[in-house]
Amino acid sequence: MSTRDGFVGAIGNTPLIALPKLSAALGRTILAKAEFLNPGGSVKDRAAKAIVEDAEARGALTPGGTIVEGTAGNTGIALALIAAARGYRAIIAIPDDQSQEKIAMLRTFGADVRVVPAVPFANPENYYHVARRIAEQIPGALWADQFNNTANRGAHYATTGPEIWNALDGKLDAFVAAAGTGGTLAGTAAYLKERDPRIRTAVCDPYGSSLYAHVKCGTLDTEGDSNLEGIGIKRITENFRDARVDDAIRVNDRSAVEMAYWLLREEGLYAGGSSALNVVGAARLARSLPEGSAVATILCDGGDRYRSRLWNPEWLAENDCLPTARDLDFL
Ligand code: PMP
Repeated sequence: MSTRDGFVGAIGNTPLIALPKLSAALGRTILAKAEFLNPGGSVKDRAAKAIVEDAEARGALTPGGTIVEGTAGNTGIALALIAAARGYRAIIAIPDDQSQEKIAMLRTFGADVRVVPAVPFANPENYYHVARRIAEQIPGALWADQFNNTANRGAHYATTGPEIWNALDGKLDAFVAAAGTGGTLAGTAAYLKERDPRIRTAVCDPYGSSLYAHVKCGTLDTEGDSNLEGIGIKRITENFRDARVDDAIRVNDRSAVEMAYWLLREEGLYAGGSSALNVVGAARLARSLPEGSAVATILCDGGDRYRSRLWNPEWLAENDCLPTARDLDFL
């Protein structure tokens, strides 16, 4: 064991957890990168660190400066904590349909939080545009722009990909992840494909997102809707553009909820909805591969951020998503 230097130094090198019961049931090994063990509690610590360090290196962020971002929460949480550790101010625009837990955390962590109506991207009041305008009005402020700032993807190319590869000594057959900005998927896939082009990569996409149609038939068509947070997008970001993705798997909210409860009950893993959706995607992809194959995915954040929703039976009942499955029959 060695020490880590501060909050930023503690980001990354998360465990890659083999899921014993799921792997036994499938006859294929499912491996989940425990990103909820990052110091800020999510996979977005990696992107936030890379974005801040890139801006510092370019002189776009100077001591005492301000970081502005529009976020579904996790990037904002990571940026607020890095801002505390490095002496910056954080202003975070977040849509009002995200969990109250994440909004409360942002306030606790000292961010200047601007809760905005959840409106489509085309609307100038969308959180993305609000964040850009706030940054433009503050001299010297950095707009992190996680969607199009490819330092995000670069973080996963430089860290997540190599960590997975090294943990497995290259014995990996597939990698699957959902995408919000696309940084995790595109960066990790780029590294893994570079090491071994036979590694199959796939995006698992919730309903209401365009990435499934984009990969399958080159359109941005959407179908249905999803309540899962932080994933799914209707446009191609700079982080996702040219991503080395072979396939797409669509997963509905019900399957993700079933998997979230199965993971807690059977594997002792308390995760958020996007993590559960990723594990569904990994399991389905694994089943299409020969027995004994190894498939890796991401546990993006922990369950505590969703106590009032995913982990609240009343909310699940209201959204017609109460888990009912026996064992893995929902797969
Ligand atoms: N899951 C959660 C909970 C997230 O907050 C995010 C980031 N928006 C993702 C998954 C997707 O990560 P990425 O932005 O790297 O595609």
